[in-house]
Amino acid sequence: MPTPILVLNCGSSSVKYQMIDIDSEEVLASGMVEKIGLALGNIAHSSGGEKHTIEEPIPDHTAALGLVTRAFNTWGPTLEDVVAVGHRAVHGGERFRQTTLITDDVIEGLTDLSGLAPLHNPPGIAGITAAQKILPDVPHVAIFDTAFFSTLPPEAYTYAIDREVAEKYHIRKYGFHGTSHSYVSKKAAEFLGKDLSSINQIICHMGNGASISAVKGGVAVDTSMGLTPLAGLVMGTRSGDIDPGIFSYLQREAGMDSQTVDNLLNKSSGMAGMADGASDFRDLRAKIAEGDEHAKLALDVYTHRLTSYIGSYMAILGSVDTIVFTAGVGENDNRTRADIIARLEGFGIRLDPDRNTPCNREPTIISGDDSAVTVLVVPTNEELAMARETYQVISQ
Ligand code: ADP
Repeated sequence: MPTPILVLNCGSSSVKYQMIDIDSEEVLASGMVEKIGLALGNIAHSSGGEKHTIEEPIPDHTAALGLVTRAFNTWGPTLEDVVAVGHRAVHGGERFRQTTLITDDVIEGLTDLSGLAPLHNPPGIAGITAAQKILPDVPHVAIFDTAFFSTLPPEAYTYAIDREVAEKYHIRKYGFHGTSHSYVSKKAAEFLGKDLSSINQIICHMGNGASISAVKGGVAVDTSMGLTPLAGLVMGTRSGDIDPGIFSYLQREAGMDSQTVDNLLNKSSGMAGMADGASDFRDLRAKIAEGDEHAKLALDVYTHRLTSYIGSYMAILGSVDTIVFTAGVGENDNRTRADIIARLEGFGIRLDPDRNTPCNREPTIISGDDSAVTVLVVPTNEELAMARETYQVISQ
């Protein structure tokens, strides 16, 4: 008899879900609702080795969760056995430092934090409320993207701005993708047969969104994302670090209002901004093969930024045992991994080209035996991490 946990990740126009049996850690069903709020939305639901789809208008998150329920009722497995629901909550602010059982008070707290994460927290709250109506008798749990980084020391999380303004508006580095960084750092230690508390790691989460963290003995000591997920590495459509002066310069010189600049930096910058709309690394590689100079420069900028963060975290950690690549780009793009590590050769860090294969579905060592640091690819699994966290909270 399985012990199914439902995990939900509600974005502004999508809901991703998985039902995971926590005993065997097997995925019993998975799916995704897309295009919520558009004229025509869709759901793709996989269970029992089959994939099913429905297309229809999905006006809001309540309708989306209604459709998820319909998919489970039609194609299984039954939702009746679900023991708990884990919800991805992007911003926990200063209050939520760990995975938390959702009460009315927690929902109020999340609502208060919406100013810090206007794109992420409102859809998350809408998803929680809709799911609570569908599964009212089981515990619902919030897993925060920021929680893993609540251990950052003040010197890492404090911005050098007016202290009173920072305090009044809760301006500090929070960090995101924490569930992935935490899962991957644990998995890397386990794979290497090392005690997590005895190793220093640099984790590179390179998906469409990208972030990097310095993890000392299992504890996060620095990360690249900040008050918002806009900071740090170059991403698919986000700029990552820029001179903050650019914001007011564009307002003044280009007559852009703050929303326009915000959209520019979040939605049409990063790889897409530099490479004429291409944000997917497969498209970027294809463009480079055709001699596209913009795509080439975009990749060079990406590699340069990532390498400079690795260097910075090597300095912060003092010594490094592992550099770990994960998420879509990190797991699949062996050339980007090779470009980054080639820039670190002066530190004695070397890849083994035969081990650095394109696609790694299992943890793999890709460094040479003579490398000063062990370089790994460790596939992330945020859904499994969320299911584990959820089960831990309800088992307490
Ligand atoms: P997110 O969860 O942030 O949406 P993912 O971790 O799924 O992102 O990563 C998606 C990105 O991974 C894609 O935009 C693409 O750039 C990259 N990617 C996926 N598969 C490949 C591949 N085979 N080769 C190169 N890059 C890939």
